[in-house]
Amino acid sequence: MADIDKLIRQNVKGLIPYSCARDEFMGRDGIFLDANENPYGDLNRYPDPYQRELKAAISKIKGVPEENIFLGNGSDEIIDLCFRIFCNPGSDKALTFTPTYGMYEVSAGINDVRLIKIPLSDDFQAEYKSVQLELKNPALKLIFICSPNNPTGNSMIGFEIESIVSGFGGIVVIDEAYIDFSDQPSFRNLISRYNNLIVMQTFSKSMGLAAARLGMAFMDSTLAGYFNKMKPPYNISTPNQKAALKCLSHYELSKNKIRVIKNERERLASELKKISIIEKVFPSDSNFLLVKTGNADLIYSELVENKIIVRNRNKIVPGCLRITVGTKRENDKLLGALRRIRL
Ligand code: PMP
Repeated sequence: MADIDKLIRQNVKGLIPYSCARDEFMGRDGIFLDANENPYGDLNRYPDPYQRELKAAISKIKGVPEENIFLGNGSDEIIDLCFRIFCNPGSDKALTFTPTYGMYEVSAGINDVRLIKIPLSDDFQAEYKSVQLELKNPALKLIFICSPNNPTGNSMIGFEIESIVSGFGGIVVIDEAYIDFSDQPSFRNLISRYNNLIVMQTFSKSMGLAAARLGMAFMDSTLAGYFNKMKPPYNISTPNQKAALKCLSHYELSKNKIRVIKNERERLASELKKISIIEKVFPSDSNFLLVKTGNADLIYSELVENKIIVRNRNKIVPGCLRITVGTKRENDKLLGALRRIRL
């Protein structure tokens, strides 16, 4: 077990958080003259700062106790909080396996934290042996592992990841934004074994609520206490909490949509493989496909001409485009446009 107190920045440990009016009185009935709210209107009251009802619903579905759940304004807020809670600007370091999701690097830059970039293996795996030496670096405080990884789409091998978590004295964040599209198990149950592990998921992908900005993080309850101390008091709005609750109350619908997207992913992959300008379609555990082409920049521009926008990843994975799985109609339009392109 890691000594959590040693992982937290000194100023964060001593921080006295903002005390919300609703921290002191939690009842729903009463005459509320405590928060300088407007007494009129539908959205006139501040939201529950700790999102208790939503966490209870998430807890049931994910099988994680409420005190081990933290909710952020998107996973992006959680990523930023990780830097602010664990890394001293100017001296501490974080580590990512590249290519990966770009916000880890942006957040590191914002927080003046040096990023160590370790390349994934040839088959896009985060390997223990590639970071073994860095794990002893006293300045290294934070490791991000994205599984399934964006933009490569694959899941990381479990025992390699667990070796990194158990062999590291700092915090490991496993970003599972795409986990519901994968047949691999989540790492979230490991939080009871490793108090230096944070597992992130999001409402933005499989739940179809990207507009609501809701990220989840599962972690040791002492760690969650620090996240609660650091976040802006009302970071999740009432409409967004309600949207997420509604989505969870119809969880079967989300599961059906995940099944449809996974089926479409397989169909799209097999159709893409038949197109001559596509050199390779990488296996995917997510809701997107990474494809290698003869000329990613040109194909990207031709698709834009057709008002079809994919992600050009040529600069980080040479020759590659990242294509999100859309509806059958959208995917058919994409396939038609690709079949017409001549290099
Ligand atoms: N993690 C990964 C791997 C992502 O690809 C993204 C968004 N594309 C996020 C996190 C951000 O998720 P959110 O919408 O919850 O901020």
